[in-house]
Amino acid sequence: MTAIRRAYIIPRLMQTPSLPLPDKIDPWRLAAESGRLEGTLALAALPRLAAVLDHLNGAVSVSLVAGIDHQGIRSITGGLRTVIELTCQRCLEPLPWPLDVTVNLGLVRNEAAAHRLPDEYEPLLVAEGFIRVADLVEDELLLALPQIPRHVDVQECEANDYRAPSSEPAPNTEPVQPFATLASLLPSKRSH
Ligand SMILES: [Zn+2]
Repeated sequence: MTAIRRAYIIPRLMQTPSLPLPDKIDPWRLAAESGRLEGTLALAALPRLAAVLDHLNGAVSVSLVAGIDHQGIRSITGGLRTVIELTCQRCLEPLPWPLDVTVNLGLVRNEAAAHRLPDEYEPLLVAEGFIRVADLVEDELLLALPQIPRHVDVQECEANDYRAPSSEPAPNTEPVQPFATLASLLPSKRSH
């Protein structure tokens, strides 16, 4: 009996050469073709996000894959990473804020389909045609912004000459001031 020769299948390279991010995608077609979106977008190219930031330096790195899951749902999943600069609402000093956003979008063509979507997905309503990649990325980043950005440790604020008032109100009674307008920036289709 001859020894069984094992055939080792060399996996294809996981990393395909990265192409620049397209300006627009047809998400349904991207899912059908198991396409990828890899690249970076300048924060300055995201006007709704820019409206709430002090500085527009930097970029967001985009790493998304489209496909069809085992339930037959067309999806765009992956992650977005960036560091934005907000203003601490306690000491009013700059506050670098890392955003590491997990994206789990399920494509739907109408509201009814959005309601049927499993909970693990957030609906992306696209009847047909193209959407701008920048819009998709910007929506996800806006949803991930903190309502009241503050240094995690009050000592960091005190290092910036912040002095706590003698009777600091309980955190949940603080007014949601500058970021209360955020909801109005978000697309209504996400308020499911
Ligand atoms: Zn602070």
